[in-house]
Amino acid sequence: TDGRGIYRVYSPEMGNKMRRYHYLLEEMRLAMASQNFSLSFQPIVDVHDFSIDYFECLVRWHHPTEGSISPAEFIPIAEDSNLILELGNWILIEACRQMAAWYNAGMNKVRMSVNISGVQLAHVPLHDWIIETLNKVGLPPKALLLEITESCFIDASEQVISDLDKLRKLGVLIAIDDFGTGFSSLSTLANLPVDVIKIDKLFIDQANINPKYEKILNSISDLGKTLDLKIVAEGVETAPQFELVKKLGIDCIQGYLISRPETSKDVGSKLIGQNVN
Ligand code: C2E
Ligand code: CA
Ligand code: CA
Ligand code: CA
Repeated sequence: TDGRGIYRVYSPEMGNKMRRYHYLLEEMRLAMASQNFSLSFQPIVDVHDFSIDYFECLVRWHHPTEGSISPAEFIPIAEDSNLILELGNWILIEACRQMAAWYNAGMNKVRMSVNISGVQLAHVPLHDWIIETLNKVGLPPKALLLEITESCFIDASEQVISDLDKLRKLGVLIAIDDFGTGFSSLSTLANLPVDVIKIDKLFIDQANINPKYEKILNSISDLGKTLDLKIVAEGVETAPQFELVKKLGIDCIQGYLISRPETSKDVGSKLIGQNVN
C-alpha cells in the first residue's frame, strides 16, 4: 500500500509504459497510411568465401518527430493489435518486389528472407498467401526464405506445418529463427519442415566468454550436420566471434562484422553488375 491504505496496482512507471504503448499503436496506424515504413536488407554470408547466401529483410519505421523506432519495440505492439497482419502483408509484398528486381537484374542465386510473425501464422492461410504474393510480383519460390521463431514453431498448428511442407516442395526454404531460446526438443526438430537454423545472438555473445556456450554452439553445429540443416550464426560482431563460429563448423554468418542492414539502394549499387553467387 502507499501508506494511506490505498493499494496501488499501477506504478507511475507502468503508466508511462501504457501511454507509450497506446501512443505507438496510434502512430503506427498513421504510419501505415502515410508510408513511413521502409525495408532494410542484411546479407547472410558463407563463412568460407563470404559469398551471399541470402538477404534478411528487416522493417524500419521513420517517425516524423521521434526519428527511427526499433522493430524490437513496435513489432510486439503490432502483434498485440493484429496490425501486424496489414504491416506484414506490406512487408512481404515489398520484399518480394525488391527481390524480383534484383533477380531480374542477374542476382538469381540469392534469396530474400522475410520474418513471419506467429500472429500471421495463426490468421493468414500461409500457403495461398505466399503463392499469391509470389505470383503477383513474378518471383520464383526458390528465391524466398521464411524465418519463423522457434517459439512460434512450437505453437504452430497442423495446418501451418502442412502449408510449410507444401511451400518447401515448391522450393521455398524455411528457417527456425532465434534458435536456442524456445526449447524445442530434438525429436520435434527432426520432424519439422525446416532447412535452416538461425542461432540466436545471445549464444554468439556468450561463446567467447563462457565455455559452456561454446559447447552448446558446437552441438548445434553437429546437429545441423546430422539433420542436414544449414546453420547460421546471427549477430557476429567481432573477429574472435567469427573465428570461433568458423572453427565450430557453422555454415553462415550474419552480423555487423560483415554488414549492417542497408537500404535497397545501397545494396543494389554494391551488387548489381557484380557476379554474385
Ligand atoms: P531478428 O529476426 O532476430 O533479426 C535480427 C536482428 O539482429 C535485427 O535487428 C538486426 O539488425 C540485428 N543484427 C544483425 N547483426 C547484428 C550485429 O552484429 N549486432 C547487433 N547488435 N545486432 C545485429 P532489428 O532489425 O532491430 O530487428 C529486431 C527484431 O524485430 C528482429 O529480430 C525481429 O524479431 C523483429 N523484426 C524486424 N523486422 C521484422 C519484420 O519485417 N517482420 C517481423 N515479423 N519482425 C521483424
Ligand atoms: Ca529473423
Ligand atoms: Ca534474434
Ligand atoms: Ca562441430
